[in-house]
Amino acid sequence: MMAAGPEMAPEQAPPRGPPGEPGRETRFDVVIIGAGPAGYTAGIYCSRAGHKTAVLSGPLPGGQLVNTTEVENYPGFESGIMGPDLMIEMRKQCKMTGATMIDDEAVNVDLRGPPFKVLTATEEYEARAVIIATGATPRKLGLQGEKDFAGRGVSYCATCDGPFFRGQEIVVAGGGDSAIEEATFLTKFASTVHVVHRRAELRASKVMQERALANPKIRFVWDTEVSDVRGKERVEQVVLRNVKTGAEEQVGAGALFVAIGHEPNTALFRGQVELDEAGYVAVNGSETSVRGVFAAGDVHDRRYRQAVTAAGFGCMAAIDADRYLSN
Ligand code: NAP
Repeated sequence: MMAAGPEMAPEQAPPRGPPGEPGRETRFDVVIIGAGPAGYTAGIYCSRAGHKTAVLSGPLPGGQLVNTTEVENYPGFESGIMGPDLMIEMRKQCKMTGATMIDDEAVNVDLRGPPFKVLTATEEYEARAVIIATGATPRKLGLQGEKDFAGRGVSYCATCDGPFFRGQEIVVAGGGDSAIEEATFLTKFASTVHVVHRRAELRASKVMQERALANPKIRFVWDTEVSDVRGKERVEQVVLRNVKTGAEEQVGAGALFVAIGHEPNTALFRGQVELDEAGYVAVNGSETSVRGVFAAGDVHDRRYRQAVTAAGFGCMAAIDADRYLSN
């Protein structure tokens, strides 16, 4: 999948009257916060299990996949599917199973229940169980060219987009496990992978480092940052700048993969559910530290981060929520 497609238009009116008006449904068995593959899948399973379910879509209905184009690795689509289209289909299926779509953003939660409370700017929703599926956001370099070429050569997911750049030079920014794992994966397609790291020492684990350092297709560019991304329709050059000498180098690359980490979208839950040292929701299966509150997808998973695994985690959380509600 390639980044930056159209944003999905919320196509559904809020249930029975605008937020804050009498008659609007505000009590649910399950409120799912987040509407990416994890949230929609959890919605489908919870509704089908007979629970009154709401999916609160948040600031980016569809999640990271609406900022992608082609998705070739989601099973069931022989010729691939556009990321936004996949999310529209998931949303339709979720709605069809009976879940209520609420196109609003949670601004606060109170997880001292049950009932648990999920607040938007204008409404307070109550739930007997909550599924946190707010995802994660890839860290950005913050360059204008990175924004301009998102989905046209700038990517945040090598597994998704690597095969589009067969035979080309590729730049990977970062020096952690993700960058090294992605760079190694990208050597299957690229003629050369330039790993650009701002220091002279990698953060990645020794084993991964050793493998990458021995890979003849990987060139390490130390003490260096990406300073610009240039091209016409698509990325054609990535400009690198040595942070010690200021010397610049232009690499004729077709793609820039940014792998400088992710930020889990957990600010809302800080102090209410246990988070790990990097801010991801700490889980046992899908259970969080609060009974009746579950988590699914990239908000707790820093390892796989795929649409299909997020959907799987959504299914797991829904099954666990169903068991909890049934007991
Ligand atoms: P990470 O460990 O936080 O590494 C981020 C890398 O990006 C660091 O090398 C950092 O440089 C660099 N960076 C950060 N901000 C930057 C900026 N603005 N400009 C340039 N470079 C920047 O993130 P990660 O690699 O995504 O890994 C996250 C976690 O997942 C880690 O715990 C990792 O072990 C785990 N993980 C494991 C695997 C695996 O085991 N197969 C695979 C992927 C990830 P500095 O080093 O200078 O700070």
